[in-house]
Amino acid sequence: MSSPVSDLIKKAAEGGRLSYDEGVRIYKEGDLHELGAAAHARRMALHPGNTVTYVIDTTINYTNVCNVHCTFCAFFRPEKHKEGYTMSHDQVLERVKFAADQGATQIMIQGGVNPELGLSWFEELFARVVVEYPKVDVHSLSVSEVLGLSKVEEMSVPDVLKRLKAAGMKSLPGAGAEILVERVRKRISARKVQPQAWLDVMRQAQLLGMPTTATMMFGSVETDDERIEHMLVMRDLQDETHGFTAFIPWYYVPHKTPLRGKEATGLEYLRVLAVSRLFLDNFPHLQASWLTPGLKLGQLALFYGCDDMGGTILEEQVVHDAGSTNEATRKDLENLIVTAGFQPVIRDTYWNLRHDVALATA
Ligand code: SF4
Repeated sequence: MSSPVSDLIKKAAEGGRLSYDEGVRIYKEGDLHELGAAAHARRMALHPGNTVTYVIDTTINYTNVCNVHCTFCAFFRPEKHKEGYTMSHDQVLERVKFAADQGATQIMIQGGVNPELGLSWFEELFARVVVEYPKVDVHSLSVSEVLGLSKVEEMSVPDVLKRLKAAGMKSLPGAGAEILVERVRKRISARKVQPQAWLDVMRQAQLLGMPTTATMMFGSVETDDERIEHMLVMRDLQDETHGFTAFIPWYYVPHKTPLRGKEATGLEYLRVLAVSRLFLDNFPHLQASWLTPGLKLGQLALFYGCDDMGGTILEEQVVHDAGSTNEATRKDLENLIVTAGFQPVIRDTYWNLRHDVALATA
């Protein structure tokens, strides 16, 4: 006889592992408030105390030229398009300076998969960042960009990663995972890396000692079961490597993309967060992604399993081009955390607490 859903939620809140079927069941049948309370209890058990972290960071979208053509993306331009751009190193460095002047400890240099850019372009850029801004960690690129470089250079993925690491890239963000299920990828990103290849690149980065994050972009064409399938493959890799620092679910903004569709609801967002916290028992952190759901839902996320508010994302373009209008200053993030009853603490990419960096509201 199968367990009542409440028993499954209770088991997960106490740190017990849910099977795939149990995960699907709590996702589909669990009461939202019960899921939230259980996820919050689990979060408090994992991170006792009253703090919520955030990182001062920026995303620099250095090129919008991309040969992958995802249907959910309004940011990219195909090669030779008149609106295509690629920043010079100096232009990227100007933006790093802007972020560093505001106390940033992390930069995400991410863009399209532009076959005009070879490995040396990134090596030179990262080397300059390391020398000119030694307090800023290069948490940059994505699996797709790494694979693009591997193709352009006809070099293995581990060799590309070793060269990037030697140049100063410290960690690899989990971008481009969307939903790691073949049926979904065929619909939304047919030319993009397939699920197993995404996991393999992450595994290689983790084996080289690079910390990574894992994301889930939901709300396009996937089913509820496929959301849990995505979490399952992430959990399996984490069992093997323990190389993910955080899971970051965020929802797709359809307004200006070729795929279109309906935006996920706030309730759906909270359900995904709570189930993520309960299902991903081996992920240390769950990050609130305020960029698409907005700041108020981002605040509510702190009661649905999240222990981290993400970053300030000073200059992000990709999600804004899809129709998101949300922005946040450091003060905004700190106020959200304080008014939710928590104490904000600045962290770096690796969750080292940076008490040496003053709060904006101090
Ligand atoms: S999501 Fe990334 S890989 Fe896909 S088209 Fe946009 S820029 Fe290219």
